[in-house]
Amino acid sequence: MLAILEQLLIIQERDRRIAQLKTEKARIPIEIAAVDHRLSETSQHLDSLRQQQKHLESERKKLEIEAESNRAQILKYRIQLNQIKSNTEYQALLKEIAKVEEKIVQVEDRELEFMEQFEQFQAAIKEEQVAVKDLMAKAEAAKQDFKKRAANIERELVQLQAEREKLAQEADPSALARYERLLRSKGDMAIVPVQHGNCGGCHLHLPPQIMHNAKHANTLISCDFCGRVLYWQSE
Ligand SMILES: [Zn+2]
Repeated sequence: MLAILEQLLIIQERDRRIAQLKTEKARIPIEIAAVDHRLSETSQHLDSLRQQQKHLESERKKLEIEAESNRAQILKYRIQLNQIKSNTEYQALLKEIAKVEEKIVQVEDRELEFMEQFEQFQAAIKEEQVAVKDLMAKAEAAKQDFKKRAANIERELVQLQAEREKLAQEADPSALARYERLLRSKGDMAIVPVQHGNCGGCHLHLPPQIMHNAKHANTLISCDFCGRVLYWQSE
């Protein structure tokens, strides 16, 4: 293989690794944000459960007060009963007492329902508390992991970039400039293999002359269709 082609291939391999690491590095803050988002959603859900439970409890207390005042009312009525002389009034007050007693039963039934709901919330809150705790630990571990990964990537990048710089200094400037132009315009690969008679970049079938030139290259050969530099690899 042409020496410059070999050099460019090594540079390309470094460039691809550098690009890959940069993409990986850019993803880390996004992944951290996703972990934080999940945690904050679960915490918010827990808060909302607590709020609902608090509301339920204050509603239940209102009912308790209502039942108490009803009971006080009945006591008052009973005292009045002892003082009533007329039978009609006595009967009327008994009816009144019965009505209030019925109300108490209704209020206490609702109180019971609220208490059951309160317990359901209690269970859900406990479950969510465990989930939040679990997520917090996972988020912490993930962040430590991300930090380590970022540091490793940074180290590798510094090393690769230094290598790349050295390789670039050793390469033919005009060939290197051609490679870099191609890389910028194609975005992925500037130098591609011939694969079963096709260009390894655009995958179009190469004319025999180009194939022949690529195989016996003494200069850089380009694909007619996409312009990428071709190299021959034994098939
Ligand atoms: Zn091509």
